[in-house]
Amino acid sequence: MAINVKVLDRPIADTSYLRATVKGMALTLKHLVDPHKVTVQYPEEKWTLSPRWRGTHRMLTTEDGTAKCVACGLCPTVCPANCIKLVPGEDEEGNRYPLVFEIDEFRCIFCGYCQEVCPEEAIHVGRHYENAEYSRDGFVYDLERLTAQTHPVCEMWDPADPKGE
Ligand code: SF4
Ligand code: SF4
Repeated sequence: MAINVKVLDRPIADTSYLRATVKGMALTLKHLVDPHKVTVQYPEEKWTLSPRWRGTHRMLTTEDGTAKCVACGLCPTVCPANCIKLVPGEDEEGNRYPLVFEIDEFRCIFCGYCQEVCPEEAIHVGRHYENAEYSRDGFVYDLERLTAQTHPVCEMWDPADPKGE
């Protein structure tokens, strides 16, 4: 049986490792002397975050320090990452409140839907990103931890102008 051998024409300009290396080094050197390069000496220097930055969550509280959440269930329903755990409770007067409210910041995709949908302006994504942890468990923020956050909240949705008028 005859064997057909197909010879591929590979231009040296496309396959030369030397050429690719020189090209890469040229790009690196170009950035080295670029007066407009941006280098931040983190953590001594930090970015100024956009008012619309969506990061670590924060649960706002009423004047007496309790979470504003009324356990309506909207945020866990709308959450596309399914990373909000809510167990609702109800007091003798019929007021609902969260027995358990947890957000897994590791699974969250920071879409901000929870903030947008919350009728009580309770849960917010925040202008904060320094939330590294050594274990996945550390990324699960319970109600106590969420209410203890003090960073500014995202201005994606303006509480002073809820209808955007
Ligand atoms: S920001 Fe989006 S993904 Fe994260 S908890 Fe809220 S709804 Fe879920
Ligand atoms: S949408 Fe707001 S009030 Fe409803 S469960 Fe979520 S945080 Fe609580």
